[in-house]
Amino acid sequence: MQGKLELMMGPMRSNKTAELLRRAEMRRQYAKQYVLVLKPSDDTKGGPGVVESRNPNGGGKMSAVEFRAADPWEVLGAIRDTEQKIGKRVECIAIDEGQFVDQLFLFVKYLLDAGHDVLVAGLDLDFRAMPFGEMLNLTWLVNAYGGSITECMAYCSCGARALYSQRLIDGKPAPFDSPIKMPGDSYEPRCAEHFVLPGRTH
Ligand SMILES: [Zn+2]
Repeated sequence: MQGKLELMMGPMRSNKTAELLRRAEMRRQYAKQYVLVLKPSDDTKGGPGVVESRNPNGGGKMSAVEFRAADPWEVLGAIRDTEQKIGKRVECIAIDEGQFVDQLFLFVKYLLDAGHDVLVAGLDLDFRAMPFGEMLNLTWLVNAYGGSITECMAYCSCGARALYSQRLIDGKPAPFDSPIKMPGDSYEPRCAEHFVLPGRTH
């Protein structure tokens, strides 16, 4: 039987990771499922092997299997090893920071076809307000396999709903042509009125 996909998307500080971990914990506690939490190793916000929410009030920590974002397929071996160790199927795979994962669409489709339920949390848009990685492509899989799409909400400091992740470098809005990944940058959620992108042509 095919699995179902639960997709959690939104800008920075929309509690995506906390929501992912909450759902993983509920499956463990109440559905008695084995949930394997995966984290691409380009992610820097937690310690090694640990997925951690930025929100100190939400979710807390949960141990996770790290993998290289460039090669999600190396996780298949870890799933097989886990299933041998626990003597049953891994019912659910939870992936945090999905926007960083190469071949995310194919990888998630493979897991669904193999019968795993899949949870994916990630940014829908990058700092340029353009689709981030393959996150938006996953909506096709929700339609085809069933599951749900959750738009995680964030708020601008003006109080309006924030759809965008404002990148700041030394406190100033980052230009359109700065690299997608950049050490030392920071982000805050902003509404359309307060989102600033110097150098944008359209
Ligand atoms: Zn605003």
